Amino acid sequence: MSLARDLAARIAAAGPITLADYMGQALLHPTKGYYSTRDPLGAAGDFTTAPEISQMFGELVGLSLAQSWLDQGAPAPFTLAELGPGRGTLMADILRATARVPGFAAAAQVVLIEASPVLKARQGEMLHDAEPAWVNSVPDLPEGPLWLVANEFFDALPVRQFQRDGAGWRERCVGLQGEELTFGLSPVGPQPALDHRLEDTRDGDLVEWCAPASAITSEIGARIATHGGAALIIDYGDWRSLGDTLQALRGHAATDPLTDPGSADLTTHVDFEALARAAAPAAHTRLTPQGLFLERLGITERARALASHMEGDRLTSHIAAHERLTHPDEMGTLFKVLGLYPAQASPPPGLEP
Ligand code: SAH
Repeated sequence: MSLARDLAARIAAAGPITLADYMGQALLHPTKGYYSTRDPLGAAGDFTTAPEISQMFGELVGLSLAQSWLDQGAPAPFTLAELGPGRGTLMADILRATARVPGFAAAAQVVLIEASPVLKARQGEMLHDAEPAWVNSVPDLPEGPLWLVANEFFDALPVRQFQRDGAGWRERCVGLQGEELTFGLSPVGPQPALDHRLEDTRDGDLVEWCAPASAITSEIGARIATHGGAALIIDYGDWRSLGDTLQALRGHAATDPLTDPGSADLTTHVDFEALARAAAPAAHTRLTPQGLFLERLGITERARALASHMEGDRLTSHIAAHERLTHPDEMGTLFKVLGLYPAQASPPPGLEP
């Protein structure tokens, strides 16, 4: 039976479900979820990501992490963690770029958090030499200094959506119209987690709230503040969420999020303010456009150095990849970087306090 039929039966029996519940099932249902059943990345998949576009992305992220590790006195051992590592490309590029930083590789214990068995297997192949460990969630990471990266991870976490109604909120839910899944609104009620949004919203405005994102960042922030370390969180989104940002992608094209759940990627824009708030007592950097972050880390010099060994089609696609990562009309400003670091340390290179 399809996941759509499963969910329809559940809703018919027990009533509408929250959008977060719907997203959680569509993405991670153990046998019918989107991530559970496939490798979605690349030209043949549904979307592509910065590390899959060019090795330069992971190399520069790696150098920022390694310099931050040196700036904090090169503690050994430390955990080098990644959330949602996809095919393992980003971590492989980080490890290659940092191989010549004295002591870094020897001190790093690579730990990955990944929900998809399909992608876990790919990470195992790609990162075989680094002997990574997998844990199920951030609280299971080893105690101690933590350098962490998450690219396009937070956008995949289930969000709830609320529409302002007077001094309260109605939750956007997934219900049934006949046999079809459809969006509806719950009765109005208070939402204490959204109290601060009563100041900047009006009747009818929609805001998104991602409880798992705040829980995860709170745990990361506590560890970094206690033991040292840094986190680079890279994703699309903005400082404060406003409006419906749910999107479904199949075969690199937008599709209806309620059609055939489990067959399309579902994401929302990341509310970076919520992450920064949850990360206290760790300090956070300014939210920085990806293009600016990569420029500060020297992507243009790196692109030139790589280009000097290339010609023909390879050179053409290398130039296109550089532009795709940095140009304002491509990923350069839509994608943002937020750094977390101990209040007494300097921020990871490429970012400002
Ligand atoms: N970071 C990679 C992949 C991004 S796709 C890249 O940039 O190419 C999102 C990744 O997060 C996938 O690896 C997916 O399986 C994983 N993921 C999604 N939700 C997750 C969850 N709740 N827990 C752990 N991993 C999750």
